[in-house]
Amino acid sequence: MKLHIDTIPVWDAIRQGGPCFLCTMRDRSEATWAERFLGASVMEPEWRIRVNRHGFCARHHQLLYGMGNRLGHALMLESHMHETTAAMNEALSRAGRAADAMGRGGLGRSKARQEEAYRAAVQDLGTMAEDCILCSHMAEDTANAVGTVLHLWQHDGEFRSVFAGCAGFCLPHLHALLADAPDLLPAKELPGFIDALTRIEGPAYETMGSDVSWFIKKFDYRYQAEPWKNARDAVPRAVNLLRGRTLPADEAESSRDGGE
Ligand SMILES: [Zn+2]
Ligand SMILES: [Zn+2]
Repeated sequence: MKLHIDTIPVWDAIRQGGPCFLCTMRDRSEATWAERFLGASVMEPEWRIRVNRHGFCARHHQLLYGMGNRLGHALMLESHMHETTAAMNEALSRAGRAADAMGRGGLGRSKARQEEAYRAAVQDLGTMAEDCILCSHMAEDTANAVGTVLHLWQHDGEFRSVFAGCAGFCLPHLHALLADAPDLLPAKELPGFIDALTRIEGPAYETMGSDVSWFIKKFDYRYQAEPWKNARDAVPRAVNLLRGRTLPADEAESSRDGGE
């Protein structure tokens, strides 16, 4: 995949602050694609063919359903169901033919071939069960975002200093940055980049751990009079830092139960 370097969205996200700015970009990418798939573009033949083939994962059906456009969702499902039913029947019949042959009991190479045919059919069903066109577009956007971050870090001194002061990365995005860095940064820049990440991540995770501990203390009557400090929303923030932004910020409200 050829990387598309687009610096403005990276600057927007890092300036917005908070951890993790790659999650901020991921959320924007997700919202944009979701709008597109429920909107007019899904009626365009090129998009329609791709949606029909790949469909959406459970999480993204949940997102699309939550957007409340039942007709758009149904129109997309209609032809996708049609194509999925055909592909499912085809995989089932391949599995059935292989199972028949396995039942008759082959030997040696023919036994291995039958088992391979069975596994290939199962594998196709496995892909169908997980496939998601929205996830693949988001993965492409993330690859471009990571590439742009590395490009800016290498070439733009101002970005490098803003980056050094950012609020940390979730584990999935830390992994993405580290995985791509050797391919996208010159080898002599790599140690400096790892060092910058180490200075950002350690303190961010340690502070998060202390916030979780303070949150727990607030459930102890001896600490009831103490201030919440930064711990009221420690649970969703810790989950979001560990796994990428998953829980909504307003989740923080429900954490007040029992602590006061
Ligand atoms: Zn993230
Ligand atoms: Zn998905």
